Amino acid sequence: MSAPIVIAGAGLAGALLAAQLASAGHRVALYERRGDMRRVPVAAGRSINLALAARGWEGLRRANATQQVLEYALPMRGRMLHDRTGQTQFQTYGLNAEEVIWSVHRGHLNQTLIDVAAAAGAELHFHTALHSVDFDARRAVFVDERDGSQQAVAFDVLIGADGAGSAVRAAMEAEKPLGQHTDFLDHGYKELTIPPLADGGPALSPDALHIWPRGGYMLIALPNPDQSFTATLFLPHEGEISFASRSDPQVAREWFAQDFADALALIPDFEQQYREHPVGILGTLRCPHWRRGDRALLIGDAAHAIVPFHGQGMNCAFEDCVELLDLIETRTRQGVVDWERLFADFEAARRPNAHAIAEMALENYIEMRDSVADPGYQLRRQLELALAQRLPGHFIPRYSMVMFTSIPYARARERGELQRALLQELTAGHSSLDQIDLGAAAAAVAQRLPKLS
Ligand SMILES: Cc1cc2nc3c(=O)[nH]c(=O)nc-3n(C[C@H](O)[C@H](O)[C@H](O)COP(=O)(O)OP(=O)(O)OC[C@H]3O[C@@H](n4cnc5c(N)ncnc54)[C@H](O)[C@@H]3O)c2cc1C
Repeated sequence: MSAPIVIAGAGLAGALLAAQLASAGHRVALYERRGDMRRVPVAAGRSINLALAARGWEGLRRANATQQVLEYALPMRGRMLHDRTGQTQFQTYGLNAEEVIWSVHRGHLNQTLIDVAAAAGAELHFHTALHSVDFDARRAVFVDERDGSQQAVAFDVLIGADGAGSAVRAAMEAEKPLGQHTDFLDHGYKELTIPPLADGGPALSPDALHIWPRGGYMLIALPNPDQSFTATLFLPHEGEISFASRSDPQVAREWFAQDFADALALIPDFEQQYREHPVGILGTLRCPHWRRGDRALLIGDAAHAIVPFHGQGMNCAFEDCVELLDLIETRTRQGVVDWERLFADFEAARRPNAHAIAEMALENYIEMRDSVADPGYQLRRQLELALAQRLPGHFIPRYSMVMFTSIPYARARERGELQRALLQELTAGHSSLDQIDLGAAAAAVAQRLPKLS
């Protein structure tokens, strides 16, 4: 029997790809460093819930996992802004009831994907961390980190889905430098749980992504199915208002009482959580090479980890899986698969898009923590929604292109730039939407921007 496609990492991308490939009839073996997450609880304090959007759903659809995930995914219709006095303002995300993003529990989603992969016939191996790779011999060595025992595994091709600290990437780098670089953000994050109220109900409206924008930093919260919320504080590591200057939980409480008073009132064990939950680091991985001949390919965070401010890291990784699956399926139908060419085509297609979403994710941090509360931003946002309603398929807000469509990220970014300049021009000198001639604005868009194909 020929060697299988071996996937290192049964996280979100690895498990999804295994499910998709196995469903399509390929022989696939999945090796995961940790234990079986369907049996061990997921550690608290590490991106507990994630925003799932159109590209992610497409990945799930292609693995027949949509129904399972819908059972626990929670729709978020828009962002709820909280100001320092506790006043809230709701900003819708989409143009209609379908344009929502979904809060999903990372652990549940990962468990579902592993279940689906197993049911589709993928081989699963846990407590197997990739240790080293002999690319020429098509052989990888995995180690059980509990006792150091090793096993050598033959592969047809090796897919590195082992996350930002990828061992597959390290093995490729050891052979030939990849020119990779990680730009670490000078901001980090800490997660805090907002429990349900005493009557079991949610402490915040459950159909929104809550944001406390404070200029240089922010707090956000996403709903969980048990009526709790996972809040995430994004803050500089160093400086006047920073994790360094707010390391003492009592000092942090006093600061929260000024900046996030309504949120603080909902976290009874604030000090304990603040002390115990770690500060996570964030960065953008820029890796110019994702492949090693016809032997190995990186996908997901292993190839292009990004900051989380557009909620797209997983969605982008799932889109990688769909595009890779499509290439494999097409080439398989055509006859023998030339892996080297296939990997090159995958990289050529995905690289510009991975770069674009990495940049848009960085830009969105400023939008979330600062611009959303700015009246000029709010007017441009109102105008873009009005234009989108008047010119369907001709004007789609950049946020919507990224979250609600599969328009390639690079195209969305390029088009978004043109639209931003036009919105700026059309709102200049105005302070409310009724001062703007919407007919003339729509005509300007129709004349100056080509229709989106
Ligand atoms: C705070 C935060 C919030 C985020 N929010 C969102 C969001 O709202 N929406 C969104 O789309 N994305 C979000 N992301 C990004 C998202 O988490 C990642 O993009 C996604 O997890 C990438 O999936 P992956 O499978 O490539 O990597 P991972 O999920 O990191 O999975 C890698 C897997 O490989 C395993 N592994 C590691 N080393 C080895 C080894 N040597 N051998 C074998 N296995 C190994 C790991 O144990 C893990 O299971 C967020 C990230 C952070 C940090």
